[in-house]
Amino acid sequence: MADRDYYDILGIKKGATDEEIKKAYRRLARKHHPDVNKGDKGSEDRFKEVSEAYAVLSDKEKREQYDRLGREAFQFNGGGPFGGSPFSGFDFDFSSFGAGGRGRKAAGKVSDFRDIFSDLFAGGGRAAGPARGSDVEARATLEFGDAVRGTTLQLSVQLQAECANCRGLGNVKNQVCPRCGGTGMAATTQTVKVKLPEGVSDGQTVRLAGKGGAGQRGAPAGDLLIHVAVRPHAYFERRGNDIHIELPVTLGEALQGGEIEVPTVHGPVRARIPAGTQSGQTFRISGKGVKNSRGAGYGDHYYRVMIHVPGQLSETAKKLLDEIETSYDENPRAKLKTGL
Ligand SMILES: [Zn+2]
Repeated sequence: MADRDYYDILGIKKGATDEEIKKAYRRLARKHHPDVNKGDKGSEDRFKEVSEAYAVLSDKEKREQYDRLGREAFQFNGGGPFGGSPFSGFDFDFSSFGAGGRGRKAAGKVSDFRDIFSDLFAGGGRAAGPARGSDVEARATLEFGDAVRGTTLQLSVQLQAECANCRGLGNVKNQVCPRCGGTGMAATTQTVKVKLPEGVSDGQTVRLAGKGGAGQRGAPAGDLLIHVAVRPHAYFERRGNDIHIELPVTLGEALQGGEIEVPTVHGPVRARIPAGTQSGQTFRISGKGVKNSRGAGYGDHYYRVMIHVPGQLSETAKKLLDEIETSYDENPRAKLKTGL
């Protein structure tokens, strides 16, 4: 690659126009792009060669210099890819595409190349385009109340981010970065602040767009997917966005009716049960359930009345109960057969 003429590399004539140079470069860069030829060393070398030729010939000043002095004017010192570039302003290297543009001075040359790359693969299907960052998955186990109310978590996630050692450049002092092997990307553990919506439920996956692994060459970052588990509550049971609870009442409350305090996930609500409420009868309080985390509105709150029987009775209570027994004017088990 050291001696070939830049015009030959791009397959164009000496007097080629800027447009012809650009066109030739696009065709060859597309053909030899590392994303298209994964692991093919020959293609990678060709790609670098083509990129190098284009970097010089697309720059009016450098092209003139090259036409006048030949390749000696741009002798590279070896080291990393394009390392030791002797001319200032020549701010292109192969690995710079891995930087995603961050943490790097916005040199004109680089953005120029990036522009070309962005339309180089336009419409060419995702597989061939600049690699979007990978989706990252994490798990979070929430307390029941935090899930109902929504919460903010600090999650520690492993993801691909710009390599801190080379700041995404892929090389350090003309040597391939030992930390990322020249890719400009490295696995890092990051603490991510995550806001989970009110009403998030057990088994739900919350997707946070753009919070996953960093993309390459300015491609968008992946998403962060959080698989949510919710611990059960001692007495609130969630079914969909409704809450169910068993509510103990006294014999007197069931017989005579009354106003009782019903616990809900939104706090206590005063409610009436009618006289003659049966054990197991279920009542509903509208809109006092859980918020629909994917839309609007709240579920309902259901409470199932259970008559609580006291463990011990005083002599007075026993006498009173005898009176109550006489109020049963029919056999409550009349509808049941006595066996099969
Ligand atoms: Zn690195």
